[in-house]
Amino acid sequence: MLGKMGLRPYSIYEIKELTHGESDSPRIVSFKMRPKDGQKFNFVPGMFSSLFLNPNDKLFRSYSIASSPTEDHLEFMIELINGRFTSLLANLKEGDEIYVSEPRGAFLYEPSDKHNDLFLAAGIGIAPFFSMLRYLKSKNMKRNVYLFYSIKHKDDIVNLSELEGYKELGLNIIYTVTRDAENEPWSGERGRINMQMIQKHSGDFVSRTVYLCGGIRFVKDIVEELKSEGIADEEIKRDIWGE
Ligand SMILES: Cc1cc2nc3c(=O)[nH]c(=O)nc-3n(C[C@H](O)[C@H](O)[C@H](O)COP(=O)(O)OP(=O)(O)OC[C@H]3O[C@@H](n4cnc5c(N)ncnc54)[C@H](O)[C@@H]3O)c2cc1C
Repeated sequence: MLGKMGLRPYSIYEIKELTHGESDSPRIVSFKMRPKDGQKFNFVPGMFSSLFLNPNDKLFRSYSIASSPTEDHLEFMIELINGRFTSLLANLKEGDEIYVSEPRGAFLYEPSDKHNDLFLAAGIGIAPFFSMLRYLKSKNMKRNVYLFYSIKHKDDIVNLSELEGYKELGLNIIYTVTRDAENEPWSGERGRINMQMIQKHSGDFVSRTVYLCGGIRFVKDIVEELKSEGIADEEIKRDIWGE
């Protein structure tokens, strides 16, 4: 079934599987869904869809797709912040209907033979990178990728064991905590992702294609730093989520 959001058509998907949080990321809920009519959806890892609870409602929010296009469902990873939309999402049950726009966006993962990748994720900005990593795994594509992933607290890491599993494909992960106390035991980095941290772990970062996702401050600051290090604007792909 198709509806319209402005001029854009959207398909209606029914939630078939709804997982409430991972034990290691209590505020993040994974919503998995399949189209009611079995219709196929095509997208490139990095794209997002808009979710509506009511097709006549003007209230909607956009969410990056976390599943791979090779999977038979769509998955979204949503941080429940008790805002206007997320407080409604929190009440959804398995089997409820949800309305999903056609996937879209300009943040497209295009693995290239010429360049290795550098992924930079702040908080729930990790969601599109799950789509990319799941896609690589489904295609058994081994790539030299560095992922810098900042979380407030070490327990906020989403799907830790899944992420660790991608090391087999060539993924190097640097976790950094921004809010944990200095005296708490932790073997990763501390503080926001910055150039010194990137240089320390990935000395060849200038030759990589950069993909970054998170809040506007994080993205703007790091883009400026990357450009001042000589990375061309077209090699910096970004997804900005507002504040
Ligand atoms: C392209 C795109 C992709 C996105 N992908 C995702 C995704 O994969 N997962 C996801 O969880 N969100 C994602 N977002 C953000 C999402 O669209 C909503 O903005 C978010 O869920 C808050 O909606 P809300 O109606 O509950 O909050 P609102 O009522 O709109 O906002 C409430 C207040 O909370 C603040 N706020 C917003 N986000 C946070 C936060 N994370 N923590 C604390 N305060 C916050 C806002 O600044 C605002 O002041 C994406 C946004 C865009 C534009």
